[in-house]
Amino acid sequence: MQKGKIGVSSDNLFPIIKKFLYSDHDIFLREIVSNAVDATQKLKTLAGRGETSVSVEHAKVRVSLDTDKKTITVSDNGIGMTADEIEKYINQIAFSGANEFLEKYESDANAIIGHFGLGFYSSFMVSNKVEIVTKSYKDGAEAVKWSCDGSPEYSIEEAERAEVGTDIIMYINEDSKEFLEKERLSGILNKYCKFLPVPVVFGKETEWKDGKQVETDKDNQINETNPAWTKAPVDLKDEDYASFYRKLYPMGDEPLFNIHLNVDYPFNLTGILYFPKLKNSIEVQKNKIQLYSNQVFVTDSVEGIVPEFLTLLHGVIDSPDIPLNVSRSYLQSDSNVKKISSHITKKVADRLHQLFKDSRADFEKKWDDLKIFIEYGMLTDDKFAERAMNFFLFKNTEGKYFTFEEYEKLIKENQTNKDNNLVYLYTSNLEEQYTFVQTAKDKGYDVLIMDDVLATPLLNKFEQQHSDKRFVRVDSDVVENLIQKEDEKDELSWDEKEELSPVFQAVCPEANGVNYLVDFKNLGESGQPIVITRNEFMRRMKDMGQLQGGMNFYGDLPESLNLVVNTAHPLVQKVLDSKDKKLGKAFETIKEDLNAKKQERDALEKAKEGKKDEEVPAAEKEKLEDLGKSIAELEKQKREKLTDFGKKNKLTKQLVDLALLANGMLKGEALDQFVRRSVELIK
Ligand code: ADP
Ligand code: MG
Repeated sequence: MQKGKIGVSSDNLFPIIKKFLYSDHDIFLREIVSNAVDATQKLKTLAGRGETSVSVEHAKVRVSLDTDKKTITVSDNGIGMTADEIEKYINQIAFSGANEFLEKYESDANAIIGHFGLGFYSSFMVSNKVEIVTKSYKDGAEAVKWSCDGSPEYSIEEAERAEVGTDIIMYINEDSKEFLEKERLSGILNKYCKFLPVPVVFGKETEWKDGKQVETDKDNQINETNPAWTKAPVDLKDEDYASFYRKLYPMGDEPLFNIHLNVDYPFNLTGILYFPKLKNSIEVQKNKIQLYSNQVFVTDSVEGIVPEFLTLLHGVIDSPDIPLNVSRSYLQSDSNVKKISSHITKKVADRLHQLFKDSRADFEKKWDDLKIFIEYGMLTDDKFAERAMNFFLFKNTEGKYFTFEEYEKLIKENQTNKDNNLVYLYTSNLEEQYTFVQTAKDKGYDVLIMDDVLATPLLNKFEQQHSDKRFVRVDSDVVENLIQKEDEKDELSWDEKEELSPVFQAVCPEANGVNYLVDFKNLGESGQPIVITRNEFMRRMKDMGQLQGGMNFYGDLPESLNLVVNTAHPLVQKVLDSKDKKLGKAFETIKEDLNAKKQERDALEKAKEGKKDEEVPAAEKEKLEDLGKSIAELEKQKREKLTDFGKKNKLTKQLVDLALLANGMLKGEALDQFVRRSVELIK
């Protein structure tokens, strides 16, 4: 027996491996099994070239569990190792290059760990002792046994092994005894080894017999050695892609379509990506892509590794250029990984474009399910956004689809405003905004449906990119103002507006955190008497605030709505007439009084102009002050009278309620009162 010290200059590395190497201790099995697979494939290659006569036909990797001895053993029929090779590959190589690095980052275990793939040595995370019993394929090679108890000392001695290959025997430590459970172990194998290219066997297959599960004598192979992504696309039918999807996500809905990635330059990359049917909520759908390196599972939390929006896709990406046993942060900063991810983005965009060109009808059919994904991509990845302009679709209220270009042509004639801006009208909810949509259509406008969570940020982006385009929701203003074709003429004077506004303000609902701003507009005799609109800017700011969550200035503002009174409507006219009648002489007197006082004040102010303060006589100053007070008082009286009138006037209330009703905002007690009042008015 020969003893030696593992080639590390520092004695500290072993404790580091044991404690921190990976936060997921279960990857030890991946490392040991994939070494066994590598060794088997190497021997197959040699056999293929006729360089060995050792049979590889039935080569398998066998994982076995001995709960009495507390060992996990991974055995293979691979190339094996000679004593010299153990010295070279196990004792020395594992830490070559590590020394220098260790000196530099002595205190930072994470940096060390993230940088080095310590494949074989990860077994010490879970073991007190590890043994290698191996026999090389080389002619005349003797079997050897290497043993190490976790200190840098090891021993090596002669051993018995009938066949060429290697056993790795891990004596599982007390802290890791969970791995001695059969269920746990098969769970780990299923996670990391499901698609390894060499058969991996764990225990025996079971079957139901006499009402219970019993073991058969057939080996239980846990992996599929030729998963779909390793095959050529020509050899796969739609059904093959579908069944592979079910294998990956047994609970998933059928995907919309797939992309088979097959790249060998400038790096090696294979994989199949699926477009799932996306629901409106994005968060729950992330992180379904699985990353593999030579069919060895690396991770399925791909955030930071592939572009944000691609995390919505499902499927498999496999590249030998994806480093296997390194930390997440290292993976994220790896330049190969970055190249891979931008390449995938391009492929995805190309594929979508191609689908669009090949079968537009089919593409349109899938659009509603696809759009969240595409919109998300456009919002988070400028390169993708550029490409997506080829196939991004608008959908209008008639259910017709248009590309950006097509739609521009459609509305150019009719929806260009006086400032030469193209105005895109949209609704976020066809049901709720039905009246507005209808009014806009009656005017010959086209209305888009933009009803998903990403609509608002997307519109903002479009507007940023195209300064001559505006997106306006149909309920953001009265139809006359949605697309202003000529300068607005103010129909009511300031004084008239001031006098009318308290009448309607008086009957606006007060509660539930909504502010109403009364405005007046000539909407024609056949227009609605009152229209409620919501300011586009404020609404979008609120939308964005909600999307971002948390504290947000706009998000926290009360909602503010415009109550637009149609001055041309006969019923509004009726309110105005009855106001004059009802308030009568007394009101007139207040107004006259007010006017006289205002005139007096203005005259005094005028006389004061250009004079220094001390030049103005004290009596005059006093007079001005008095005037100010009585004007305020009169105005108050006037407002009170108007408010009082508005409150008592049933028609005013009725008109406002009708507008609220049309917007689905009349509820509860208010609705009940409205119904009663209506009945009364009809009687
Ligand atoms: P890597 O797999 O990245 O080379 P490892 O630490 O996992 O690093 O393994 C170190 C080396 O030990 C391997 O490259 C291989 O030469 C040798 N080795 C490990 N396991 C086996 C095995 N089961 N059969 C033959 N050689 C092995
Ligand atoms: Mg390895």
